[in-house]
Amino acid sequence: MESGRLAQLNRPENPAQAWQAMLQGNSRFVTGDPAHPRQDADHRASVVGDQKPFAALFGCADSRLSAEIIFDVGLGDLFVVRNAGQVIAETIIGSLEYAVEVLQVPLILVLGHDKCGAIRATIDSTQGNLKAEGSFIHNLVSRITETVEQAQAHGINDIDEITVLHVQDTINELVGRSDLIRKRIESGKLAVVGAKYALDQGMVSPVHVVGQID
Ligand SMILES: [Zn+2]
Repeated sequence: MESGRLAQLNRPENPAQAWQAMLQGNSRFVTGDPAHPRQDADHRASVVGDQKPFAALFGCADSRLSAEIIFDVGLGDLFVVRNAGQVIAETIIGSLEYAVEVLQVPLILVLGHDKCGAIRATIDSTQGNLKAEGSFIHNLVSRITETVEQAQAHGINDIDEITVLHVQDTINELVGRSDLIRKRIESGKLAVVGAKYALDQGMVSPVHVVGQID
């Protein structure tokens, strides 16, 4: 058996417990005292037959947003879906529906962060300054453009303020398009939390909640 702290996880069974587990792990990371739980060979062997993650995370692909590190969790704890700027796509919704329906996660965390390159690129695009050769980069940016333009129309130009709006819009789109996720939230078995991550402090702060987490 693993000798380190938190070798065994009492799997959170409801949204409030799952959110608390995420906050506690992030707190250990922020203070520089991570436990690195459930990352050893014994634990790896113990999860071969089955996975029971306690949360799904949909976040930006930024290399500094490493999910298991910043929440101080281990193998089998998080079902992670990431792309640049955490933009909704049908495959993303399908992955999150799988986490909810098959893996029975009680929490979906949508995670943006400050100084996000995808948001920056979208702002540049609205100003005619996006220099990208890849046509699919333009496709990705186009999925954030409406949020950026609406923010700018309200006098909001700060990249980090726009990122928060984008997290909110992302959650609204997810909940609006997935009947399964919406029904699970209504039943109290699922919550979707939007949060922002501060690159310097490493701290995760909630910015938008759909469902009950307390
Ligand atoms: Zn980013």
